[in-house]
Amino acid sequence: MKVRLFDSLTRSLRDLETAEPGVVRMYACGPTVYLPAHIGNFRANVCWDVVRRTLELLGWRVRKVMNITDVGHLTRDDTADGGEDKMEVTARKEGVDPLAVAQRYIDRFHADRRALRILDAEAYPRATEHVPGMIALIERLVARGHAYVVGGNVYFEVATFPAYGRLSGNSVDALVAGARVEPHPDKRHPADFALWKTDPSHLQQWDSPWGRGFPGWHIECSVMSVELLGTETLDLHTGGEDHLFPHHECEIAQSEGGRGVPFSRFWLHNRFMNVEGRRMGKSLGNYWTLDDLVAKGFDPVAVRYLLLSVQYRQPMNFTLEGVAGAKASVDRIRGAVRNLVEDPGAPPLAPAEAGEFDALEEGFRAALAEDFNTSAALGKVFDAVRKVNARGPFDPAGAARVRALFGTFDRVLDVLREDAPRAGGAPDSAIDALVAERQEARRARDFARADALRKRLDDLGVVLEDTPRGPRWTRR
Ligand code: AMP
Ligand code: ZN
Repeated sequence: MKVRLFDSLTRSLRDLETAEPGVVRMYACGPTVYLPAHIGNFRANVCWDVVRRTLELLGWRVRKVMNITDVGHLTRDDTADGGEDKMEVTARKEGVDPLAVAQRYIDRFHADRRALRILDAEAYPRATEHVPGMIALIERLVARGHAYVVGGNVYFEVATFPAYGRLSGNSVDALVAGARVEPHPDKRHPADFALWKTDPSHLQQWDSPWGRGFPGWHIECSVMSVELLGTETLDLHTGGEDHLFPHHECEIAQSEGGRGVPFSRFWLHNRFMNVEGRRMGKSLGNYWTLDDLVAKGFDPVAVRYLLLSVQYRQPMNFTLEGVAGAKASVDRIRGAVRNLVEDPGAPPLAPAEAGEFDALEEGFRAALAEDFNTSAALGKVFDAVRKVNARGPFDPAGAARVRALFGTFDRVLDVLREDAPRAGGAPDSAIDALVAERQEARRARDFARADALRKRLDDLGVVLEDTPRGPRWTRR
């Protein structure tokens, strides 16, 4: 099946075409490991996981690489002085080595990522392990006249790369006029950006032809993507909307200026996760981590569902009610599969009914193939949920068909599998069953039984809340 995606560079929906038929070489800009990643960062990561899983569902082989930024990402990257290296800020504050800071947040990133069921990338290269490649590319940029050296610092000269600004819809002149870049005494043009900074006081430093120092943030992606994916032209490069400018604009200028071939065939950017209308961000202090939500009793799978429920190109607002709603949706999907009754005496699927299930499966694939439209795909999932719940028992072949259908859905969603119960706790499925039983008792107006079940749930440490959309439970 063809996949169409919105390519940010051409601002158009285009059919995915790759260098090697059937194989997608995909690079995603990863976390800067100086603080825990928040739910906004994981929105980006879950979106790219959906991209990868969709492509795999549709028969592509995906080679995905994500970098880890452990040096060089400055606190005010788009200003003239750039601020400080984010890694150093945490390291100095805590009086520990930047590598120790990096290791702590790399471990945490992977733990959260696994809890959110984001599949492993093929590699997670670290910037500090690829500095020689960065120096080599910078040398090439200097040799080709795209970069210049001033006092041990190396800058990319944007005027030598006329396409600079194409991705973000800026022109070099407009960037200056719009004051998105400030003048700097060393730079030939205010929009020129640093490739190498000589700084003997930096906590992480390397020898270079220009002095001991460290690489700029952007150069790492131009180098690690190509080194790890083994091609100078990637098929698909993803990032958050904040990366359009300056990060990806700079990646393109460095890669194409240095190598003379297009850097990526397709560019995909996810919109932000907002909180009350503002971007969720580390610097804004308005962020939630996965741990924060787990401490409130939420299941990471509910968080995964929430993050994938809105198509990547739509803005999304974070609320705790949203997570609770996501949990209810996951429970409904799980409930449809779990409560499916298999009975050899049940009537087989009529041809029309079988056709409806086929159409839902096809619709699910088609929705995702059209720019990863997860909300439309979930519409098909809930159509299937309603059908299954409404039907009553299935014969064995019919039950197998329905399970296979949900198996297809779950190759992308990955919400059916339950996590192992936490120590001492009842498994989610047992609690779901008790909650469902209590609902049943209430429907039958057997209030004594409903109360007894509520008491049992309470004894299991479950907080049950009846809402207009049905019961919700969390662990105390
Ligand atoms: P950072 O560690 O801040 O460089 O961000 C890592 C990734 O998360 C980048 O791809 C950002 O674009 C993305 N990101 C940061 N904040 C948000 C947000 N509020 N919503 C969605 N993605 C975000
Ligand atoms: Zn990058």
